Amino acid sequence: MRLLIANGYVIDPTQGVNGEKSLLVEGGRVAAVLARNDTRPEGVEIFDATGLVVAPGFIDLHTHLREPGQEYKETVESGASAAVAGGWASVCAMPNTDPVNDNPAVTRFVIEQAEAAGLANVFPVGAITKGSKGEELAEMGEMRRAGIVAVTDDGRPVPSAGLMRRAMEYARGFDLTVMDHCEDRTLTAGGVMHEGAWSLRLGLRGHPALAEELDALRDCALAELTGARVHLAHVSTRGALEAVRRAKEKSLQVTCEATPHHFTLTDEAVRDYDTNTKMCPPLRSPDHLEAVLEGLRDGTIDTIATDHAPHHADEKALEYDNAPFGITGLETAVGLALDRLVHQGIISLERLVELCSTNPARVFRLEGRGTLRPGSWADVTVLDPDLEWTFDAARSRSKSRNTPFDGWTLRGAPAATFVAGRLVFQNESLLAARS
Ligand SMILES: [Zn+2]
Ligand SMILES: [Zn+2]
Repeated sequence: MRLLIANGYVIDPTQGVNGEKSLLVEGGRVAAVLARNDTRPEGVEIFDATGLVVAPGFIDLHTHLREPGQEYKETVESGASAAVAGGWASVCAMPNTDPVNDNPAVTRFVIEQAEAAGLANVFPVGAITKGSKGEELAEMGEMRRAGIVAVTDDGRPVPSAGLMRRAMEYARGFDLTVMDHCEDRTLTAGGVMHEGAWSLRLGLRGHPALAEELDALRDCALAELTGARVHLAHVSTRGALEAVRRAKEKSLQVTCEATPHHFTLTDEAVRDYDTNTKMCPPLRSPDHLEAVLEGLRDGTIDTIATDHAPHHADEKALEYDNAPFGITGLETAVGLALDRLVHQGIISLERLVELCSTNPARVFRLEGRGTLRPGSWADVTVLDPDLEWTFDAARSRSKSRNTPFDGWTLRGAPAATFVAGRLVFQNESLLAARS
């Protein structure tokens, strides 16, 4: 089957493409990027992208899908469905399932569920240590052969520098990126929000920014020692970003991501004790948010990732101290990025494509993704940068509703998502507006 995604504004930083073009897709792959006056091929299916932005498929490096083990919160299928509705052609599934993805059987299970769903690409991320217990390294090589694309112990970060060093050396042997959630837990124990003026006022225990900064400094130093590729997850503090900036100046293979909630909200959002503002790392003070915006602008931050972390309403209905950390994010991330970053003049559309597609593919070495070069997979994210829409959590495709963005009106939305040339999502309100 041949498909022409016609007359869109195509942005692909890997080819320096930035203009009105059409994309010819054949057999699930990009066949050609056609200029306006190139002859249109005959007998092709047409997707009219007039007035829309066409980009290589967006890739979320940080998604919690909860299957196996907590299917009441999310399954691979419901998460993949939320992903494509949010403009993500691919998601990287965190290993903190039950059982933990620390062996090839779990890796294969996740891949099989994703194939059966037939929506987003799901790339599993394996655990660094067995059971993510921080004691013994997991079998990275076997998981690599089964299909993992990186390793992390995300929410249970490796506490020992010695073990992290060995993990980096081991991962390097398998050409795997080590992703780390930077948190020195001796400093955050009992904390539920950012430590600062608001935690004092609200009487809640805080996570000092230093807890993130210390681990980020450690990881950058270990990246230098080992030569490993190190990716810092959801960086939220000025100090951690400074550490990454210095590592990049030394040409170390250190990258990092930022989440939409950390570039949108501050710790003031906790004032009503809404547990949908509780996540780890926590929402920070305005100075840290400003540092995240600077990092997005100057290239210190490589990728935007959701840290989509679904939880059941009953769990989030607990008092602030006892509710679990995490919010959903797949369906609001792209809208927030367009509204808060592009329309506020913080970054360009081209930079957004780098942050959501080009760079994620590079960080985890995802071959044939993050580009529209002929021969690569026809994963395509189509955006309407100006569509105004209101997020209704009750209509979310995720099984969970734990979001602080319910009812928010945003300018800019995903219009359609293609995976290997297949249309897997089309924005209903956009269709209605166009007919
Ligand atoms: Zn984390
Ligand atoms: Zn996470």
